[in-house]
Amino acid sequence: MPPQEKWKTRSKDADWAEMQERTRGRGALSNASGRFEKQYAEPFDDGWGDEADEDFKPRSLQTETIVEKPKTIITYNTSPDISFDRTINPYKGCEHGCIYCFARPNHAYRGLSPGLDFETKIFVKPSAASLLEKELAKKSYKPGCIMLAGDTDIYQPLEKELRITRSILEVLARYDHPVALITKSALVMRDLDLLAPMAAKGLLSVAISFTTLDRKLARTMEPRCAAPHRRVETMRALSAAGIPVTAMTAPLIPALNEPEMEQLLEASADAGATRAGYVLLRLPLEIAGLFTEWLEANYPDRARRVMSLLRSMHKGEDYRSEWKVRQRGDGPYAELIAARFRNATRRLGLNAVSVSLRADLFRPPTPKDDSGQLNLFDQGGP
Ligand code: SF4
Repeated sequence: MPPQEKWKTRSKDADWAEMQERTRGRGALSNASGRFEKQYAEPFDDGWGDEADEDFKPRSLQTETIVEKPKTIITYNTSPDISFDRTINPYKGCEHGCIYCFARPNHAYRGLSPGLDFETKIFVKPSAASLLEKELAKKSYKPGCIMLAGDTDIYQPLEKELRITRSILEVLARYDHPVALITKSALVMRDLDLLAPMAAKGLLSVAISFTTLDRKLARTMEPRCAAPHRRVETMRALSAAGIPVTAMTAPLIPALNEPEMEQLLEASADAGATRAGYVLLRLPLEIAGLFTEWLEANYPDRARRVMSLLRSMHKGEDYRSEWKVRQRGDGPYAELIAARFRNATRRLGLNAVSVSLRADLFRPPTPKDDSGQLNLFDQGGP
Protein backbone atom coordinates (compact mmCIF):
# COMPACT_ATOMS: atom_id res chain seq x y z
CA MET A 1 0.00 0.00 0.00
CA PRO A 2 1.53 3.41 -0.93
CA PRO A 3 2.36 5.68 2.04
CA GLN A 4 -0.47 8.08 1.29
CA GLU A 5 -3.04 5.27 1.45
CA LYS A 6 -1.57 4.15 4.77
CA TRP A 7 -1.96 7.68 6.07
CA LYS A 8 -5.58 7.63 4.99
CA THR A 9 -6.42 4.41 6.83
CA ARG A 10 -4.47 5.19 9.97
CA SER A 11 -7.20 7.11 11.77
CA LYS A 12 -9.44 4.03 11.93
CA ASP A 13 -6.92 2.09 14.01
CA ALA A 14 -5.56 4.78 16.25
CA ASP A 15 -6.11 5.07 19.97
CA TRP A 16 -7.37 8.65 19.90
CA ALA A 17 -7.13 9.31 23.63
CA GLU A 18 -3.44 8.42 23.70
CA MET A 19 -2.77 10.19 20.45
CA GLN A 20 -4.39 13.37 21.68
CA GLU A 21 -2.32 13.29 24.87
CA ARG A 22 0.91 12.86 22.92
CA THR A 23 0.09 15.46 20.30
CA ARG A 24 -1.46 18.17 22.44
CA GLY A 25 -0.48 21.56 21.01
CA ARG A 26 0.69 20.01 17.74
CA GLY A 27 -0.95 20.07 14.31
CA ALA A 28 -0.40 16.57 12.90
CA LEU A 29 -2.01 13.58 14.57
CA SER A 30 0.53 11.01 13.47
CA ASN A 31 4.12 10.46 12.45
CA ALA A 32 4.28 7.86 9.69
CA SER A 33 7.50 7.42 7.72
CA GLY A 34 8.16 9.63 4.73
CA ARG A 35 7.78 8.46 1.14
CA PHE A 36 11.44 7.53 0.65
CA GLU A 37 11.62 5.02 3.50
CA LYS A 38 11.63 1.35 2.54
CA GLN A 39 9.94 0.38 5.79
CA TYR A 40 6.67 1.97 6.89
CA ALA A 41 6.66 2.60 10.67
CA GLU A 42 4.28 4.02 13.22
CA PRO A 43 4.00 3.44 16.99
CA PHE A 44 1.39 1.02 18.36
CA ASP A 45 0.50 -0.51 21.72
CA ASP A 46 1.65 -4.15 21.86
CA GLY A 47 0.03 -4.71 25.25
CA TRP A 48 3.24 -5.05 27.29
CA GLY A 49 3.01 -1.72 29.03
CA ASP A 50 1.75 -1.38 32.60
CA GLU A 51 -0.55 1.63 32.87
CA ALA A 52 0.74 2.37 36.39
CA ASP A 53 4.32 2.52 35.11
CA GLU A 54 5.41 6.10 34.30
CA ASP A 55 7.69 4.82 31.53
CA PHE A 56 4.72 3.55 29.57
CA LYS A 57 2.56 6.63 29.89
CA PRO A 58 2.24 8.70 26.71
CA ARG A 59 4.31 11.86 26.88
CA SER A 60 3.76 15.06 25.03
CA LEU A 61 6.38 15.65 22.37
CA GLN A 62 9.30 17.99 22.98
CA THR A 63 10.91 20.13 20.29
CA GLU A 64 14.43 19.16 19.25
CA THR A 65 16.85 21.42 17.34
CA ILE A 66 19.44 20.09 14.91
CA VAL A 67 22.24 22.43 13.83
CA GLU A 68 22.96 22.50 10.11
CA LYS A 69 26.16 23.81 8.54
CA PRO A 70 25.29 24.63 4.91
CA LYS A 71 27.93 25.93 2.49
CA THR A 72 25.62 28.57 0.98
CA ILE A 73 22.47 30.23 2.27
CA ILE A 74 20.63 31.81 -0.69
CA THR A 75 18.49 29.35 -2.67
CA TYR A 76 17.44 30.31 -6.20
CA ASN A 77 14.31 29.15 -8.05
CA THR A 78 12.90 29.57 -11.54
CA SER A 79 9.24 28.77 -10.85
CA PRO A 80 7.09 30.86 -13.22
CA ASP A 81 4.22 31.19 -10.70
CA ILE A 82 6.38 32.52 -7.85
CA SER A 83 7.14 36.23 -7.75
CA PHE A 84 10.66 35.97 -6.29
CA ASP A 85 13.74 34.15 -7.53
CA ARG A 86 15.68 33.71 -4.29
CA THR A 87 14.96 32.71 -0.71
CA ILE A 88 16.74 32.25 2.59
CA ASN A 89 15.40 29.62 4.96
CA PRO A 90 17.08 29.84 8.37
CA TYR A 91 14.88 27.01 9.67
CA LYS A 92 13.68 23.72 8.17
CA GLY A 93 10.65 22.27 9.87
CA CYS A 94 8.29 24.55 11.75
CA GLU A 95 7.05 24.39 15.29
CA HIS A 96 3.95 26.36 14.33
CA GLY A 97 2.64 23.03 13.08
CA CYS A 98 0.03 24.14 10.54
CA ILE A 99 -1.64 20.98 9.35
CA TYR A 100 -1.77 22.15 5.73
CA CYS A 101 1.88 23.32 5.55
CA PHE A 102 3.28 22.65 2.09
CA ALA A 103 6.85 22.45 3.48
CA ARG A 104 6.02 19.24 5.37
CA PRO A 105 7.04 16.81 2.60
CA ASN A 106 10.59 18.25 2.64
CA HIS A 107 11.24 16.47 5.95
CA ALA A 108 11.01 13.16 4.07
CA TYR A 109 14.28 14.10 2.28
CA ARG A 110 15.95 13.93 5.70
CA GLY A 111 14.57 10.50 6.51
CA LEU A 112 12.00 12.05 8.85
CA SER A 113 8.23 12.12 8.93
CA PRO A 114 6.32 15.03 7.39
CA GLY A 115 3.91 14.52 10.33
CA LEU A 116 4.97 15.22 13.90
CA ASP A 117 8.70 15.13 13.08
CA PHE A 118 8.20 18.21 10.91
CA GLU A 119 6.90 20.12 13.93
CA THR A 120 9.29 18.76 16.54
CA LYS A 121 12.64 18.18 14.81
CA ILE A 122 13.75 21.58 13.59
CA PHE A 123 16.92 22.15 11.58
CA VAL A 124 18.54 25.50 12.35
CA LYS A 125 21.30 27.42 10.53
CA PRO A 126 23.14 29.65 13.01
CA SER A 127 25.79 30.52 10.37
CA ALA A 128 23.17 32.04 8.03
CA ALA A 129 24.21 35.68 8.51
CA SER A 130 27.94 35.12 7.94
CA LEU A 131 27.23 32.97 4.87
CA LEU A 132 24.95 35.67 3.53
CA GLU A 133 27.58 38.35 3.97
CA LYS A 134 30.04 36.21 2.00
CA GLU A 135 27.54 35.61 -0.80
CA LEU A 136 26.65 39.28 -1.05
CA ALA A 137 30.36 40.11 -1.32
CA LYS A 138 30.92 37.95 -4.40
CA LYS A 139 31.68 39.95 -7.53
CA SER A 140 29.16 37.85 -9.45
CA TYR A 141 26.30 38.62 -7.03
CA LYS A 142 23.42 40.61 -8.55
CA PRO A 143 21.02 42.15 -6.02
CA GLY A 144 17.33 41.23 -6.14
CA CYS A 145 14.59 40.86 -3.57
CA ILE A 146 15.25 38.01 -1.15
CA MET A 147 12.18 36.25 0.23
CA LEU A 148 12.59 35.45 3.91
CA ALA A 149 11.49 32.67 3.91
CA GLY A 150 9.92 30.73 1.07
CA ASP A 151 9.74 27.54 3.04
CA THR A 152 9.18 27.69 6.81
CA ASP A 153 8.37 30.51 9.21
CA ILE A 154 11.28 32.83 10.04
CA TYR A 155 9.63 33.91 13.31
CA GLN A 156 8.71 30.48 14.64
CA PRO A 157 9.10 30.10 18.43
CA LEU A 158 12.81 29.11 18.31
CA GLU A 159 13.68 32.47 16.76
CA LYS A 160 12.90 34.22 20.04
CA GLU A 161 15.99 32.62 21.55
CA LEU A 162 18.19 31.91 18.50
CA ARG A 163 17.75 35.28 16.71
CA ILE A 164 18.98 33.87 13.38
CA THR A 165 16.38 35.79 11.37
CA ARG A 166 17.37 38.98 13.13
CA SER A 167 21.05 38.39 12.30
CA ILE A 168 20.13 37.97 8.61
CA LEU A 169 18.11 41.18 8.67
CA GLU A 170 21.04 43.02 10.24
CA VAL A 171 23.24 42.01 7.29
CA LEU A 172 20.61 43.01 4.73
CA ALA A 173 20.03 46.35 6.46
CA ARG A 174 23.78 47.04 6.62
CA TYR A 175 24.15 46.73 2.85
CA ASP A 176 20.76 48.16 1.84
CA HIS A 177 19.60 44.92 0.27
CA PRO A 178 15.87 44.47 -0.54
CA VAL A 179 13.91 41.81 1.33
CA ALA A 180 10.31 40.60 1.63
CA LEU A 181 9.19 38.79 4.78
CA ILE A 182 6.27 36.47 5.34
CA THR A 183 5.20 35.19 8.72
CA LYS A 184 2.31 34.17 10.95
CA SER A 185 4.03 35.36 14.10
CA ALA A 186 3.75 38.54 16.15
CA LEU A 187 7.47 38.14 16.96
CA VAL A 188 8.18 40.14 13.78
CA MET A 189 7.38 43.24 15.86
CA ARG A 190 10.54 42.63 17.92
CA ASP A 191 12.55 43.70 14.87
CA LEU A 192 10.69 46.94 14.11
CA ASP A 193 13.89 48.87 14.83
CA LEU A 194 15.46 47.24 11.74
CA LEU A 195 12.36 46.89 9.61
CA ALA A 196 11.00 50.45 9.74
CA PRO A 197 14.20 52.16 8.48
CA MET A 198 14.51 49.57 5.70
CA ALA A 199 10.90 50.18 4.67
CA ALA A 200 11.52 53.93 4.67
CA LYS A 201 14.27 53.36 2.07
CA GLY A 202 11.97 51.19 -0.08
CA LEU A 203 13.86 48.01 0.83
CA LEU A 204 11.26 45.98 2.69
CA SER A 205 7.72 44.70 2.71
CA VAL A 206 6.01 42.23 5.06
CA ALA A 207 3.24 39.73 4.39
CA ILE A 208 1.18 38.34 7.24
CA SER A 209 -0.48 35.03 6.57
CA PHE A 210 -4.02 35.38 7.91
CA THR A 211 -6.32 32.40 7.63
CA THR A 212 -9.24 32.70 10.05
CA LEU A 213 -10.92 34.82 12.70
CA ASP A 214 -12.24 31.67 14.38
CA ARG A 215 -10.04 30.98 17.42
CA LYS A 216 -11.00 27.32 17.66
CA LEU A 217 -10.17 26.69 14.02
CA ALA A 218 -6.87 28.59 14.37
CA ARG A 219 -5.92 26.59 17.48
CA THR A 220 -6.42 23.21 15.83
CA MET A 221 -5.28 24.11 12.32
CA GLU A 222 -2.21 26.25 13.25
CA PRO A 223 -1.63 25.34 16.90
CA ARG A 224 1.47 27.42 17.69
CA CYS A 225 0.91 30.45 15.47
CA ALA A 226 -0.20 33.85 16.72
CA ALA A 227 -3.93 33.96 17.49
CA PRO A 228 -6.10 35.75 14.90
CA HIS A 229 -6.41 38.99 16.89
CA ARG A 230 -2.61 39.08 17.35
CA ARG A 231 -2.14 38.89 13.59
CA VAL A 232 -4.48 41.84 13.14
CA GLU A 233 -2.55 43.77 15.81
CA THR A 234 0.69 42.88 14.05
CA MET A 235 -0.56 44.20 10.71
CA ARG A 236 -1.68 47.38 12.46
CA ALA A 237 1.68 47.91 14.21
CA LEU A 238 3.71 47.23 11.06
CA SER A 239 1.54 49.51 8.99
CA ALA A 240 1.72 52.28 11.61
CA ALA A 241 5.51 52.00 11.41
CA GLY A 242 5.35 52.77 7.68
CA ILE A 243 5.93 49.20 6.50
CA PRO A 244 3.97 48.02 3.42
CA VAL A 245 1.81 45.12 4.60
CA THR A 246 0.28 42.36 2.49
CA ALA A 247 -2.42 40.10 3.95
CA MET A 248 -2.08 36.57 2.60
CA THR A 249 -5.37 34.73 3.07
CA ALA A 250 -3.62 31.47 2.52
CA PRO A 251 -4.44 28.76 2.28
CA LEU A 252 -8.15 29.00 1.59
CA ILE A 253 -9.79 25.69 2.46
CA PRO A 254 -13.20 25.30 0.82
CA ALA A 255 -16.12 25.16 3.28
CA LEU A 256 -13.72 25.62 6.21
CA ASN A 257 -12.05 29.06 6.19
CA GLU A 258 -12.90 30.05 2.61
CA PRO A 259 -16.34 31.42 3.62
CA GLU A 260 -14.45 33.91 5.83
CA MET A 261 -12.41 35.39 2.97
CA GLU A 262 -14.24 38.74 2.79
CA GLN A 263 -14.10 39.18 6.59
CA LEU A 264 -10.36 38.45 6.60
CA LEU A 265 -9.77 41.01 3.87
CA GLU A 266 -11.91 43.60 5.67
CA ALA A 267 -10.03 43.10 8.96
CA SER A 268 -6.70 43.32 7.11
CA ALA A 269 -7.61 46.52 5.25
CA ASP A 270 -8.87 48.01 8.51
CA ALA A 271 -5.52 47.17 10.12
CA GLY A 272 -3.61 48.98 7.38
CA ALA A 273 -2.76 46.25 4.88
CA THR A 274 -2.53 47.68 1.38
CA ARG A 275 -2.16 44.48 -0.57
CA ALA A 276 -3.68 41.00 -0.38
CA GLY A 277 -3.31 37.61 -1.98
CA TYR A 278 -4.68 34.11 -1.65
CA VAL A 279 -3.67 30.55 -2.36
CA LEU A 280 -5.95 27.54 -2.42
CA LEU A 281 -5.22 24.61 -0.09
CA ARG A 282 -2.46 22.47 -1.64
CA LEU A 283 -2.20 18.78 -0.78
CA PRO A 284 0.88 17.30 -2.45
CA LEU A 285 2.46 14.04 -1.30
CA GLU A 286 2.11 13.23 2.41
CA ILE A 287 0.06 16.36 3.19
CA ALA A 288 -3.06 14.78 1.66
CA GLY A 289 -3.12 11.99 4.23
CA LEU A 290 -2.13 14.23 7.15
CA PHE A 291 -4.77 16.80 6.27
CA THR A 292 -7.63 14.35 5.75
CA GLU A 293 -6.75 12.57 9.01
CA TRP A 294 -6.88 15.93 10.83
CA LEU A 295 -10.06 16.99 9.03
CA GLU A 296 -11.94 13.81 9.88
CA ALA A 297 -10.87 14.06 13.53
CA ASN A 298 -11.70 17.75 14.00
CA TYR A 299 -14.45 18.52 11.50
CA PRO A 300 -16.14 15.19 10.70
CA ASP A 301 -19.39 16.94 9.78
CA ARG A 302 -17.69 18.91 7.00
CA ALA A 303 -14.91 16.58 5.89
CA ARG A 304 -16.71 15.15 2.89
CA ARG A 305 -17.82 18.56 1.61
CA VAL A 306 -14.35 20.10 2.02
CA MET A 307 -12.68 17.35 0.02
CA SER A 308 -15.42 17.23 -2.59
CA LEU A 309 -15.15 21.00 -3.26
CA LEU A 310 -11.36 20.84 -3.32
CA ARG A 311 -11.40 17.96 -5.80
CA SER A 312 -13.90 19.86 -7.96
CA MET A 313 -11.13 22.45 -8.44
CA HIS A 314 -8.52 19.79 -9.31
CA LYS A 315 -10.40 17.63 -11.83
CA GLY A 316 -11.26 15.02 -9.20
CA GLU A 317 -7.74 14.86 -7.68
CA ASP A 318 -6.64 16.02 -4.23
CA TYR A 319 -3.98 18.15 -5.93
CA ARG A 320 -2.44 18.98 -9.29
CA SER A 321 1.11 20.22 -9.45
CA GLU A 322 1.05 22.20 -12.73
CA TRP A 323 2.16 25.85 -12.52
CA LYS A 324 -0.65 28.30 -11.78
CA VAL A 325 -3.29 25.59 -11.29
CA ARG A 326 -1.53 24.32 -8.15
CA GLN A 327 -2.05 27.71 -6.50
CA ARG A 328 -5.70 28.38 -7.36
CA GLY A 329 -7.28 25.35 -9.06
CA ASP A 330 -9.76 25.78 -11.90
CA GLY A 331 -13.43 25.13 -12.65
CA PRO A 332 -16.60 26.93 -11.45
CA TYR A 333 -15.85 26.95 -7.71
CA ALA A 334 -12.30 28.22 -8.27
CA GLU A 335 -13.68 30.95 -10.53
CA LEU A 336 -16.23 31.91 -7.88
CA ILE A 337 -13.48 32.27 -5.26
CA ALA A 338 -11.37 34.34 -7.68
CA ALA A 339 -14.32 36.63 -8.45
CA ARG A 340 -15.14 37.09 -4.76
CA PHE A 341 -11.48 37.95 -4.07
CA ARG A 342 -11.39 40.48 -6.92
CA ASN A 343 -14.63 42.13 -5.77
CA ALA A 344 -13.58 42.32 -2.12
CA THR A 345 -10.12 43.72 -2.83
CA ARG A 346 -11.56 46.31 -5.23
CA ARG A 347 -14.21 47.38 -2.70
CA LEU A 348 -11.60 47.65 0.07
CA GLY A 349 -8.99 49.44 -2.04
CA LEU A 350 -6.51 46.59 -1.66
CA ASN A 351 -3.92 45.99 -4.42
CA ALA A 352 -4.60 49.47 -5.83
CA VAL A 353 -0.88 50.24 -5.82
CA SER A 354 2.02 47.89 -6.38
CA VAL A 355 5.05 47.74 -4.11
CA SER A 356 8.40 47.36 -5.82
CA LEU A 357 11.49 47.16 -3.68
CA ARG A 358 14.71 48.98 -4.55
CA ALA A 359 17.77 46.99 -5.54
CA ASP A 360 19.74 50.04 -6.73
CA LEU A 361 20.75 51.08 -3.20
CA PHE A 362 22.70 47.87 -2.58
CA ARG A 363 26.35 48.35 -1.57
CA PRO A 364 28.27 45.05 -1.56
CA PRO A 365 30.21 44.10 1.56
CA THR A 366 33.98 44.27 1.46
CA PRO A 367 35.18 40.73 0.70
CA LYS A 368 36.99 38.90 3.51
CA ASP A 369 39.07 35.75 3.34
CA ASP A 370 38.12 32.67 5.39
CA SER A 371 39.98 33.98 8.45
CA GLY A 372 37.69 37.00 8.47
CA GLN A 373 40.54 39.34 7.34
CA LEU A 374 39.95 41.94 4.63
CA ASN A 375 41.06 40.59 1.27
CA LEU A 376 43.57 43.20 0.17
CA PHE A 377 43.77 41.97 -3.40
CA ASP A 378 40.01 42.41 -3.82
CA GLN A 379 40.52 45.93 -2.49
CA GLY A 380 43.06 46.73 -5.19
CA GLY A 381 46.13 45.77 -3.11
CA PRO A 382 48.03 47.56 -0.33
S1 SF4 B 1 3.83 28.88 9.87
FE1 SF4 B 1 4.20 28.52 7.71
S2 SF4 B 1 6.01 27.24 7.67
FE2 SF4 B 1 5.22 27.15 9.73
S3 SF4 B 1 3.94 25.34 9.76
FE3 SF4 B 1 2.64 27.11 9.30
S4 SF4 B 1 2.54 27.17 7.07
FE4 SF4 B 1 4.28 25.87 7.62
